[in-house]
Amino acid sequence: MRCPFCQHTDSRVLESRSAEAGQSVRRRRECLLCNRRFTTYERIEYVPITVVKRDGSRESFDRSKLLRGIVRACEKTGVESGQIENLVDEIEAQLQQQRFRREVTSNDIGELVLSQLQAVSEVAYIRFASVYRQFQGIRDFVETLNDLQNQSDRLGSDRSPTPEEDNSPRKSADDPRQLTLNDSPQDSPPVSSLAQA
Ligand SMILES: [Zn+2]
Repeated sequence: MRCPFCQHTDSRVLESRSAEAGQSVRRRRECLLCNRRFTTYERIEYVPITVVKRDGSRESFDRSKLLRGIVRACEKTGVESGQIENLVDEIEAQLQQQRFRREVTSNDIGELVLSQLQAVSEVAYIRFASVYRQFQGIRDFVETLNDLQNQSDRLGSDRSPTPEEDNSPRKSADDPRQLTLNDSPQDSPPVSSLAQA
């Protein structure tokens, strides 16, 4: 990181601390040449995600498309729109965290959605599964229902929707993910916000 005062490229880190609700690391640095101090921020770089569709074609990840699909599945299930937004945020954040590959299959996304929907609404889960897994008939519904039943049996839950939701971190109003997703593509200074000592 180039010193903003003398342009020297070597500095030492005096202090690192988490900033912006854990979305970045703030570092105090001291230039090894002029000894002046400055601050840098390190953030995760958000890279566009490519979705490989069933037919092998590719398109860039479209958040609003995902949102529409989930909204449709949640129609008249009592799932609130804020909850759906959080769900989409969560899925998008998980996709962003798969750092090693920039491509995901529509299959991966569908399974991610299902894993999230399961805790939110069983009706929405079945609806989404029927579209995304392209159910052909009643047998597909029955199989999925059985899977769902087995899973909730294994969890020992009698299907009250509260437990998973209440200890979910997604509910907080100042969800840091939301900040990042909204802030990242804008023209804010990229990695190095420089401030004088
Ligand atoms: Zn310097």
